[in-house]
Amino acid sequence: MNIHEYQAKQLLKQYGVAVPPGESCQTITEAKAIAEKLFAAGQTLLVVKSQIHAGGRGKGTFTHGFQGGVKLVKSVEEAVHVAGNMLSKTLVTKQTGPEGRVVGTLLIAGAEKIKREFYLAVLLDRANSRPLVMASTEGGMDIEEVAAKTPEKIFKEHIDPAVGLMPYQARKIAAALGLKGDVFNQACKLIAGVYKTWWECDASMVEINPLAIVETADGKEAIMCVDAKIGLDDNALYRHPNIVAMRDLAEESPLEVEASKFSLNYIKLDGNIACLVNGAGLAMSTMDIIQHFGGSPANFLDVGGGASKDQVAAAFRIILSDPSVKGILVNIFGGIMDCNVIATGIVEAVKETGLSIPLVVRLEGNNVAAGRNTLAESGLKLTSGDSMADAARKVVAAVNG
Ligand code: ADP
Repeated sequence: MNIHEYQAKQLLKQYGVAVPPGESCQTITEAKAIAEKLFAAGQTLLVVKSQIHAGGRGKGTFTHGFQGGVKLVKSVEEAVHVAGNMLSKTLVTKQTGPEGRVVGTLLIAGAEKIKREFYLAVLLDRANSRPLVMASTEGGMDIEEVAAKTPEKIFKEHIDPAVGLMPYQARKIAAALGLKGDVFNQACKLIAGVYKTWWECDASMVEINPLAIVETADGKEAIMCVDAKIGLDDNALYRHPNIVAMRDLAEESPLEVEASKFSLNYIKLDGNIACLVNGAGLAMSTMDIIQHFGGSPANFLDVGGGASKDQVAAAFRIILSDPSVKGILVNIFGGIMDCNVIATGIVEAVKETGLSIPLVVRLEGNNVAAGRNTLAESGLKLTSGDSMADAARKVVAAVNG
């Protein structure tokens, strides 16, 4: 699960990480009140930031022509004008795709005098089975590009998960960024806080880009997170009700949201052949074999080993409500799964919604005879596949005409 920048900053703040002062809002009236409050508190410049689960907002464009999803404002009037041009409007960035995202929330924060920008992230290094802190002097840039062109500019420090980030490691990272004096000490505290956020929230990634040295009102330097992104491990969400409450369903694919209600592992893809499979391994090989015969999968869908009739029906309804689907391949190997449960679920879903596209079914294993019988008796127009290859070939032929 991903959360918005303002929510990521709330979590970081709880772990003592410095972020610019600011508040989130969903209406122009609230935006006005926050701007008034921040100016009254002595801020001379504010930044209004569109909250969407995608980066590149600063250089993004709204579909009604307004430029920039991150804007600096000098007055309450200007803040209101900018908020009006962002809220409920669609922002397109290089990460959103051409359809863009509707902005439902804004973060209004004090604009900092940024002197230098850095990159800082904590993630899990699967190759080493350890947490990894990455830092770079190339802040505010696309880190993938830095990794490709100048990998020597990314400093990496692996952490022993049993002991956590040690103070000497925070100092090593701060030194690698070339920090000195008071900012060095602030950075050590900040790095420790960012790591603690990652660890205690069960995050899959915490990314601060840019981490910035800013000039404070009294002319001194401070280091803080100007942007923050947090991704969370879905498997650990059950122990973080406060984070689950941050979920923004508007940012997720509606079909994936529907699938998650039925505990289905569903991911929408770009192709036009839907697949309904039990088991992640079989689901992946089914997608491979569709590609092998010249087709393109419309989704990954694993109904699991012990799916109920209702789950199968829900899965089939989700597939049928995707307008890009032009054919369906059901590929079931019933080890624990009862083939008749699959067949009954399919028949039930088709009764509700009808079926106007080719359906190819390959059923094998536990209670297969009853499953085939249920499908045959339903009068459903379908093609049987004798093997996985045969079924894949048939569905690709049916869809490609
Ligand atoms: P994105 O990466 O989605 O474009 P950022 O949060 O990085 O969004 O904002 C874009 C740019 O806007 C930053 O690189 C920075 O220059 C400026 N900016 C953002 N927040 C602030 C802030 N609080 N103070 C000053 N400048 C900011």
